[in-house]
Amino acid sequence: MRIIDKIYIDGQFITPHGTEIADLQNPSTEEKIGTVRLGDVEDAKAAIAAAKRAFPAFARTGKRERIAMLEHLSDAVAARNAELTEAMATEYGAPQYFTGFAVVHAASSFRHMAEVLKDYKFTRRIGRAEVTMQPIGVTAAITPWNSNYGFICAKLATAIAAGTTIVIKPSEMSAVQTQLLTECLHEADLPMGVFNIVNGRGDVVGAEFSRHPDIAKVTFTGSTAVGRQVLRAGAETLKRVTLELGGKGPNIILDDADLNRAIPTVLRVGLMNSGQACIAGTRVLVSEARKAEVIERLRVEIATFKPGMPSDPAVMIGPMVSQKQYERVQAYIRLGVDEGAELIAGGPGRPQGISHGWFSQPTIFANVTNDMRIAREEIFGPVLSVLSYQDEEEAIHIANDTSYGLQAYLHGTDMERMQKLASRLDCGRVVINGAPHEPLAPFGGMKQSGIGREFGSFGLDAFLEPKAVLT
Ligand code: NAD
Repeated sequence: MRIIDKIYIDGQFITPHGTEIADLQNPSTEEKIGTVRLGDVEDAKAAIAAAKRAFPAFARTGKRERIAMLEHLSDAVAARNAELTEAMATEYGAPQYFTGFAVVHAASSFRHMAEVLKDYKFTRRIGRAEVTMQPIGVTAAITPWNSNYGFICAKLATAIAAGTTIVIKPSEMSAVQTQLLTECLHEADLPMGVFNIVNGRGDVVGAEFSRHPDIAKVTFTGSTAVGRQVLRAGAETLKRVTLELGGKGPNIILDDADLNRAIPTVLRVGLMNSGQACIAGTRVLVSEARKAEVIERLRVEIATFKPGMPSDPAVMIGPMVSQKQYERVQAYIRLGVDEGAELIAGGPGRPQGISHGWFSQPTIFANVTNDMRIAREEIFGPVLSVLSYQDEEEAIHIANDTSYGLQAYLHGTDMERMQKLASRLDCGRVVINGAPHEPLAPFGGMKQSGIGREFGSFGLDAFLEPKAVLT
């Protein structure tokens, strides 16, 4: 049993003022693995006050100092890779292919920001003006449970590069992972108050961070519904916001696609992170001409996406993070059946041979139309919808006919054609033929998938305010 009863303020692990205790569970077994003592509004205020005190000196640090801090942070996270991986498997249930990537990705986000910082021009001349990019002020980060390390590290890295101090509220469901990660970050020996991490409920600590007048900017990753609340709460003091929200990514198989290559990629990006990924390509679009062939291939090949325990290296689909999330996914699977979509793989209930844990079956619906709720709403589980199109125009129309706009996928053989189609998709990123992640390229959504961009120099810009001095 893990008892998490500390939060991190002013460079120290302290007992929170808040007294509420929440249970922590292993989603693969449904067993209680520990408890977390949650911070309250007083704790949120104390964290903000610490970050505010640290801000003036930190804002004056130079590039060299900040690069050194980023390198220390990266090393400190990488040094405890094995423990971080283990915690993520136990508390979140992520399969090994994902935990292996997640810790490396989290540690490398500091290195990537150090690289950006080396070349970043904080001072630029524009005519008579000298324009300086200055740190935006105390920032609040609010993060979800589906990649706890990655979101905390990416946001912290950007704050350090910009010279802003930060308060962080991770998901209350990730407290074991947060505790370990905080111990790593503490090892980097940053000045007191530069970063502060408070476990707590969203509607308590998250809400205080979103409305407190001393917070200049909120960087939020989570659901679109909560993103709206963060935006509203910040409006009173005109906070700058970066919102990374939900998605319903189109996963478009063009009629010239080589299915031997495309089908495994379509399934991989559709079911990534057990379907608990904002960037998952959950709407599979296929031409009428190839529909029968594609559906048959998907039906057969989804069987290679083995559900099960994170201890099994062959597992590709882990459990849903919580009972609530499991029930939500189950409700959507039942809804798909009720809406008249054709179930071609999976369905309600747990996968065969699994009697415990919040596992959902990898599920595919065919004959889905874009007005069905399973095609419009983010399910956040291993559930794919196959929709068909007559021609390229209709494919683009269906792809863009959504309130989301985060990440789209194209599969085909004619690169020039795919580049043209990519320019017509209303989303922040388009991935062609399963191309690997580019950590320095901007990441974020159009429409209700968010506001602003993270990563690379675009991400850094969003933690800075330009000031023009005219002479
Ligand atoms: P969530 O919106 O429920 O919670 C996210 C965070 O916000 C948590 O820390 C939560 O405690 C906090 N929160 C809840 N209510 C709040 C309030 N009133 N004020 C301030 N903070 C509050 O999301 P989740 O269930 O943790 O994560 C899943 C969602 O995150 C999905 O919709 C997914 O698409 C989205 N997501 C987006 C991205 C992206 O980069 N675009 C990445 C990962 C996840």
